[in-house]
Amino acid sequence: MTDITDHLAEIQRRVHAALKRSGRTANCVSDASDFTVDHVTIVAVSKQQTVAAIRSACRAGLRHFGESYVQEAEYKIPRISEPGIQWHFLGHIQANKTRQIAVLFDWVHTVDRIRVAQRLNDQRPHHAPPLNVFLQVDQTGLPGRSGISEAELPALLQAVSALPRLRVRGLMTLPPAEADDEAVASHFRRLRDTAARLGVSGMPLQELSIGMSDDFELAVAEGATFVRIGTALFGQRTTDHPANGDAEHRLVQPPDRTS
Ligand SMILES: *Cc1c(COP(=O)(O)O)cnc(C)c1O
Repeated sequence: MTDITDHLAEIQRRVHAALKRSGRTANCVSDASDFTVDHVTIVAVSKQQTVAAIRSACRAGLRHFGESYVQEAEYKIPRISEPGIQWHFLGHIQANKTRQIAVLFDWVHTVDRIRVAQRLNDQRPHHAPPLNVFLQVDQTGLPGRSGISEAELPALLQAVSALPRLRVRGLMTLPPAEADDEAVASHFRRLRDTAARLGVSGMPLQELSIGMSDDFELAVAEGATFVRIGTALFGQRTTDHPANGDAEHRLVQPPDRTS
């Protein structure tokens, strides 16, 4: 588990080196301290990692955590009591799961349609601050991919910006898994250009959520302000329920795997 401390130090070193190479003057932060435009925040993607692993990551200083599955997040989030944690939802959003997301999370990176945005807005608890959202863009047009097309993005942005319980922070994209470095970099660059273009017309799109374990240096070079890193921090994901390996797992009901 102390591996996480070493992995984090190595990732921070590589982020700093990528910032330097690309001439950016941003700082790399792993905690939840206030950030300015000049930052790269590491979101530790803890999906299919145990509660114990998340606690280790907290001890290493990480405060931003990413989850992709609502049922898993409902189990894990209440079990992490470290102060100042911010939870990021990164998975595909089913309309019938928006209530749980609006209650449990501080950030959502995968908003790609107005129906889901409207539901998150309506279901965000009144005592909570507005939910921070990224609009997920699909630049490929390939079938079966999540994300709004570039053509439809301005209308979505306009609609989501009008929702008082959501705060649009920027854009997110996932390059196709098979893309080589050059193609990945051009996807990231194109997203940055899109954000800059729409930002000019008065919409606040300061943040870019791009980059994962295999491509975060490319993303940092292209302007990432949030990198979402799972396996490079935690090691391989387990396919088991996250309760496995946690001392208190006997206290909870076995997970319902049918839904
Ligand atoms: C799983 C996931 C990640 C982390 O992937 P790694 O390759 O383990 O770093 C990042 N972003 C999203 C949207 C994911 O689903």
